[in-house]
Formats: sequence, structure tokens, C-alpha cells
Amino acid sequence: MQIVDIRATTVTVPLEAPLRHANGCHWGRFVRTVVEVETDNGLVGLGEMGGGGESAEAVFRAMKQYLVGHDPARLEEMRFLIANPTASLYNNRTQVLAALEFACLDILGQAWGVPVSEILGGRLRDRVPFAAYCFFRYPDPRTGDGEVRTIDQVLANADCLKRRFGFTTHKMKAGVFPPDYELEAYRALAETFPNDSVRFDPNGVWSTEQAIRFGQAIEGLRNDYLEDPVFGLNGMRRTRQMVRVPLATNTVVVNFEQLAANALDPAVDVILLDTTFWGGIRACVKAAAVCETFQTGVAVHSSGELGIQLSTMLHLGAVIPNLSFAADAHYHHLRDDIIEGGLLHYESGCIRVPEGPGLGVRLNREKLREYHELYQRLGGYPYDQDPGRPGWTPIIPNDRWADPNDGRPVAIPY
Ligand SMILES: [Mg+2]
Repeated sequence: MQIVDIRATTVTVPLEAPLRHANGCHWGRFVRTVVEVETDNGLVGLGEMGGGGESAEAVFRAMKQYLVGHDPARLEEMRFLIANPTASLYNNRTQVLAALEFACLDILGQAWGVPVSEILGGRLRDRVPFAAYCFFRYPDPRTGDGEVRTIDQVLANADCLKRRFGFTTHKMKAGVFPPDYELEAYRALAETFPNDSVRFDPNGVWSTEQAIRFGQAIEGLRNDYLEDPVFGLNGMRRTRQMVRVPLATNTVVVNFEQLAANALDPAVDVILLDTTFWGGIRACVKAAAVCETFQTGVAVHSSGELGIQLSTMLHLGAVIPNLSFAADAHYHHLRDDIIEGGLLHYESGCIRVPEGPGLGVRLNREKLREYHELYQRLGGYPYDQDPGRPGWTPIIPNDRWADPNDGRPVAIPY
């Protein structure tokens, strides 16, 4: 087989409500690039990358000069061809490589008549458990619904997610409001669901001392882990010395160099693997094997996925033996998807690993066109800006918190 074409299409897909985070906000939708790789025998493999627009599409078009004529089975060679680690100082294409790897694995699975998980060593589980990803949210500007700001709203939202999807793990995304307010909310969450696990992620915006204070205050709760309370390996290391809660990261160990540094001088207990940030599903499988060797914990990170990327997370979750935690996904915040059959379903907090050949999801071209047109109408949005706080710049460590008593509606163009 040979690759004959690479196409990229930017889409934007609506969320139930804008999601607030420590560095800004998802403005009520995700922007993603859908990648299609075509081979000389007529197979089309699917990939997906975060963000989009003309420049992202142009990057994928430019990869044709490297990859037309390339055998999609030669995945290691493709890594060095477009993402040679010593060349990446000038041209970091890790996320581009990831999207192309997804598509090549999808092609191989279709050609060989097996799911991607069978290519990666075979599945150990048929369903992957997920955590409820609980965000502070602005109300949907179209309906006025969906706000999560007060502690009562936090608990009502978590209860609603548990009833709709069956989650037994609740992740609170934080770093938005003053730490003491968020501590009160997190304690209330843990006390409301005493038989469920909880985890907390302020996206690394605290000082090390604040991280220690918070970590010590939650020691009695049923924590999976405290995720990125501070930014930087040494801040995490100092926090870890003082806090009896496992620390997790998706920011300070995101490549093999950092994984080696963490093995030699541990700063983090649990690594959140991300099929995009690590450069593909296979890179995550390799990293999981390193973690198995060093008895480091493994979880699955979410960077805001549609169904194609979600399927990469499902195949990853199916094949790694040491997935000891429910995976993260933003997926349950989406209103729709661009794959055939619409949104994949949760059963008791889990999603079934697709069983069809390749990634096991196919494009719904009608939806692709609809959400591409929506992107053309709306364009992108600044993920690291908050539409409700014009002029705000989050610093690290941050002390410029949002006001939990400020319930003014926020205007977001839609
Ligand atoms: Mg995180």
C-alpha cells in the first residue's frame, strides 16, 4: 500500500455550555482538524488534531511531499521522516504525527480486517471506564442554561452527570476561583458521593506552598490523585514530599525525556497519557510500558476530543495493562459528533471499545460539512482568554481569581 493523498478539514462542534479553566475558557464549542489519509487501494484512514484553520490544514497538505508513496505500515519510519526528535527544535510536528499515525493505523486495521487494538497487542478490556469531567461553566448564551459556579450548581451538575452516564469517578477542573472556595466545593463533592473516587486539577497555576496547603487539606478524601497543583517538576517534587496524596500530571511529563527524568528522581506518581501530545497511540503504549517497569501510575488524558480521537483513547485504554484509573474525556460535554451514528454511548460510566476494523468509526460527511460551515462562519476562539473577563491575564502562580459571586451572563458570539 502507498499513501496517495492527505486531506484536512477544520470543524467546530457545539458544547452544552462554555467550559471555564485556569487559563481561559472553551467558548461553547471545540475546534478540531479532521484528517483523512487515502491509499492507492482506495482505503481512507481518519485522524484528528486539536485546533484548526487555514494554517493547520496547510501543515497537513505540506506533509504530502513527505508521505505520498509512503507505506502506511512503516510507522516508525514515518516518525523519523516528519518528527525526527533532533529536528523538532525547529519544527515540532508531534501533534501532526499523532493525527497521521491514527489515520495510518485506521488504514492498516481496515486492510487487515482487525480493530486497531488488535494491532497494538490485543485488548485486555472491552469497555474503558471514564471519569465525569466537572467544569465550572458559563451558562449557554443561547439558552441561559448550564451554569456551574455556585457549590450547589457543582453538586447538581455532578449528580446529573452521574445519573445520565453512570460515572463513579468525578474530576473537578479548577484553578478558576480562589483556592479556598474550590476546596470547599471539592470537599462537598467528595462528601456527596462518598463511595465514588474524586480527583482535582487546577492546571498548575498555584504556588508550591498553595499546592502543599491544598494537598494536605484533602488527604482524608477518596482521592485518585491531585493533578498538576503546581507547574514544574521541582514544584511537584517539593509538593510530593509534603503531601500524602498521589500527584498526577499532563503538563510536566509529556515526553520520553521527561519520563526518564521522573523515573530517575520522582516528582509525579501518575502520568496522564494523551494520544495527541505524546505523538500517537503507539507512543502512549510505549510510555505505559515504561511506567509499568517503574510502577508509575497511568491514566488517560483528554484534550477535548471528537469521536475519532475518542476512539484512539478507547483502543489505548483497551490494550494497556496498567490503566488503574478511569480515563478523562470532555466527550460528554459535546452536543453532537462528526462520526456515523452520532455520539458514542456511555454504559455505567464506560464506553465500549469499537469492534469494527481500524479505529472502528466512520465519518458522517453530512455532519463534517455542517460543522465545517459552522467553523467558516464562526472562526476560531482564543482558548487562553476568558470571554467574561476581558483584559485578564492569568499569571503563574496565579492570584487573579474569578469572583464566585459574579453571576453576570457572558456574551459569546454564536
Ligand atoms: Mg490536567
